[in-house]
Amino acid sequence: MTKGKVYLVGAGPGDPKLITVRGLEALKRAEVVVFDRLAGPQLLNHARPDAEHIYVGKLPDRHTMKQEEINQLLVDLALQGKTVVRLKGGDPTVFGRVGEEAGLLQKNGIIFEIIPGITSAIAVPAYAGIPVTHRDWASSFSVITGHESPDKLDHSIYWDKVTNATGTLVFLMGVAKIGYISEQLIKHGRSSDTPVALVQWGSRAEQRTLVGTLEDIADKVKAANLKPPAVIVVGDVVRQRETLSWIEKKPLFGQRILVTRARSQASDLVSKIDELGGEPYEFPIIEIKLPSSQDKLQAIEAALGRAEEYDWVMLTSVNGVDYFFQWLDRYGVDIRRFHRANFAAVGPKTAEALALRGIRADLLPESYHAESLLESLDSLIGSGETALLPRGDLARAMLPQELRERGVQTVEIDIYETAMTAPRDLWLPEMLANGEIHVITFTSSSTVINLLEALRQLGVTNPAEALQNIEIACIGPVTAKTAEDNGLKVTVVPDKATIDGLVEALVDRRRVLKGE
Ligand code: SAH
Repeated sequence: MTKGKVYLVGAGPGDPKLITVRGLEALKRAEVVVFDRLAGPQLLNHARPDAEHIYVGKLPDRHTMKQEEINQLLVDLALQGKTVVRLKGGDPTVFGRVGEEAGLLQKNGIIFEIIPGITSAIAVPAYAGIPVTHRDWASSFSVITGHESPDKLDHSIYWDKVTNATGTLVFLMGVAKIGYISEQLIKHGRSSDTPVALVQWGSRAEQRTLVGTLEDIADKVKAANLKPPAVIVVGDVVRQRETLSWIEKKPLFGQRILVTRARSQASDLVSKIDELGGEPYEFPIIEIKLPSSQDKLQAIEAALGRAEEYDWVMLTSVNGVDYFFQWLDRYGVDIRRFHRANFAAVGPKTAEALALRGIRADLLPESYHAESLLESLDSLIGSGETALLPRGDLARAMLPQELRERGVQTVEIDIYETAMTAPRDLWLPEMLANGEIHVITFTSSSTVINLLEALRQLGVTNPAEALQNIEIACIGPVTAKTAEDNGLKVTVVPDKATIDGLVEALVDRRRVLKGE
């Protein structure tokens, strides 16, 4: 069997966008991804759907896998012919034990690549507004481990030299030793009023920064009960934070926001949350696909075959537009055959999707749901006219029913189906219980129903209760009603039922909660 290949990839400090382009490419190719929690589970969303995920971190019933076991695992997988990505937090060569992993691969004649990552030593201070060097304040920096017993720390660190060798000192894994570290630095000649910062969980929603001096930082860490992981920065550059802190100023900073819509539709919401400083957490629980039953296919073909007869084509989602055109292509129907039809769009995104295909919507209602569409249609559509409604299988019955009552001949076709996806991310229940998810966004009734079901599948007995203390944001009144009917307390519903509206409402809600 041909041997596989192993990529030892730096994942960056937490923000999944801080992986390198090369690292991401390797991840997208991998058949197996070996990861732990510091190297963000969210990055797994980029792996192939059929890729195997192997978690080597701590589990309630298991200790973290020993380094030797991980080394051997990588060798075994490669010997099975697999393309493997080993994701590592930060940069793999900075206290990442990549030497041991690569060493054993080399011994076994397995090809490997080391793909650098952005180390927390630099990135985490940067996210707190602290540059590790500065033209006026520090012309060099050291990265030092704090993870040794005090004796060994003394043994492997030459405090007399390290203390003054560079302008800035960065300690990783040093939180528990902060008292000892500051003592040594003072003892070897750093002034006791030297500024120090601890940045905990940098680039993540939990990012928190504590600033003090060598004199008082240990007490402050104790008082604040600050726990690892944190990067410790010592030196004058810390003062830069007063003017350069940036991410903390963004309106959604500190908020981890669950995005439940299908991955194929989520990018707009995800990137808007990200731009506003929030941390989008993708947990897609629906999937959009083509219907497969013969009956449905025949119904679509027959309905499109009558293109000339329609007075109206009503599109109620972007998916509806996308799939409508896919089916036209599949059955060889030219759009010009709908020459009689007016096109109605439920909202601006649907209208935009139509416009991209060269069709300007004839009707766009005041607010963006089926009731409003119906209202605006009332004076325009008459008894005896014919309307085509290409929709998803879960679309509500209200619109076709009401149209029929008005004497409109209504042809409804399911041109796509919404299916529940099996949850692959097993951490959600624990994250919810730990308060690590701050907001949940629902963009359709099926996202509500399916999230509750997914949580049940993940072992949560009362999902609605598990979501009690979390902000629930729904795109519009229909989704909000479904959420409330299922026992959720909805706190955010925008005036306009669009993604932009939803994001604006999240920002407003944040302002209210912060008392701004
Ligand atoms: N290879 C990693 C470091 C591994 S050692 C890198 O290059 O970043 C683990 C230590 O890194 C932690 O104890 C902490 O000091 C630091 N660290 C990693 N990610 C961090 C984060 N997001 N916030 C704060 N510290 C972090």
